[in-house]
Amino acid sequence: MGFPVSLTRPNSTAEWLQRAAADPIARHPKHLPETLDFRQHAAVFLNTYHAAPAGTEMGFPLVLEEGHLTFPLELTAQARYAPFIGNGRFIGTFHVHPPAPESSPAPFFDPQDLANTLRSDNAGFLDLLLAGDRLYALVRSNPYVYISAHHVNRNPLLLQEQHAEMLRRRSKDTADPERPEQYRKVSLYWFQRYHLALYEGDPQEPLKRSFTPEGRW
Ligand SMILES: [Zn+2]
Repeated sequence: MGFPVSLTRPNSTAEWLQRAAADPIARHPKHLPETLDFRQHAAVFLNTYHAAPAGTEMGFPLVLEEGHLTFPLELTAQARYAPFIGNGRFIGTFHVHPPAPESSPAPFFDPQDLANTLRSDNAGFLDLLLAGDRLYALVRSNPYVYISAHHVNRNPLLLQEQHAEMLRRRSKDTADPERPEQYRKVSLYWFQRYHLALYEGDPQEPLKRSFTPEGRW
């Protein structure tokens, strides 16, 4: 007989991160947890969000060290990170789109975020974004789907044009109150295409899985 295990126990997230770092099979849509719990890190995420100057996308790498998630804050947003940082393993990034209405930050993962995430030389599989008071977690659920880093270097706006065009078709007016939702829907097109799973919620709550890509690997 097993003990009842809560799905939202912070430890279960740390355990899954460790499994997923060691073996991509743990990231297969069939093996994804229903929730990811980053509540114990909400303060550092929210502080970064509120301290970020308008027009910047501050962030830092997520490093798994002896089963714990750590944040080398001195290594703020670089384009690329080595697979191992210090004594830990690089598993992804955290960044913010600051709460600055004048710079109209993207309400969700933008096309550059997605192109960076999908780079073939990205050793990570988890990207966290705090935007509009919501925490989003993107998981690369298929390690065999990526975009050549060479293409992203040559054209960092690789996905931008198509994203802008798809958004224009859905929402013409930048003042449209539906626009943030339409923006999110357009980005989700790449979530399906490149097999990315999405979790989201209040940073002080466990994040629920809200999008699961379909497809085999
Ligand atoms: Zn971003």
